[in-house]
Amino acid sequence: MTPRYLSKPEARGLGMTSQRARDRMIERLRSEGGIRDERVLTAMRTVPRHQFMDEALASRAYEDTALPIGCGQTISQPWVVARMTEALIEHGLPARVLEVGTGSGYQAAVLASLGVETYSVERIEELLRAARRRFRHLGLNVRTRHDDGRAGWAEYAPYDGIIVTAGATALEPALFDQLAEGGTLVAPVGGGNGQRLLRWRRVAGELLQDDLGAVIFVPLLPGTL
Ligand code: SAH
Repeated sequence: MTPRYLSKPEARGLGMTSQRARDRMIERLRSEGGIRDERVLTAMRTVPRHQFMDEALASRAYEDTALPIGCGQTISQPWVVARMTEALIEHGLPARVLEVGTGSGYQAAVLASLGVETYSVERIEELLRAARRRFRHLGLNVRTRHDDGRAGWAEYAPYDGIIVTAGATALEPALFDQLAEGGTLVAPVGGGNGQRLLRWRRVAGELLQDDLGAVIFVPLLPGTL
């Protein structure tokens, strides 16, 4: 007979090993990564990152590294997800967030776990299909769209938060137009000299920008596949 503690959590993708590995990842994010926001740490402790990649890579899911998810794309490094999420919610949990670049769906799952109404756009249909399956399997309510997300997703705008998870040399004005008053936009931006993680806040109609440091993301590309 299979003991209950082995069969039941496994069925939900919350195996003992994975939960322990996740707890260790959270401790590293806290001690070495300087991530302080308990809301972010709790969400990342809950979401089974190993389910957002091929089984062949799942044993590496809780290392602090980006991993391939197919179609030449990657699931972002846990520290980057933590830092971006922390930056996005620092001035208050946004009610509604738009993500550009669903990829594996992990970042969107972390946002949904925070209780944020999450909208996510992805240009590669194959990746989006896999991400949708994961959301369904985990019972997460993430609204998705197959499109070039550089101009956002006007239908549900404005958003209290916008998070871009692919790097561009510049962002489209349309994206800023979809940011609500008091809202926060986080995006990797940069060209030849490397990308910086930038944050804008719309305060009293003005856009305030701050620089959160150097990052490396796959490129934000035009069109759909
Ligand atoms: N947030 C993702 C990161 C995936 S990598 C995760 O948690 O796994 C960035 C993703 O952005 C890739 O899947 C890539 O296909 C997508 N992307 C790049 N340009 C895009 C665009 N213009 N519109 C929508 N998605 C885009």
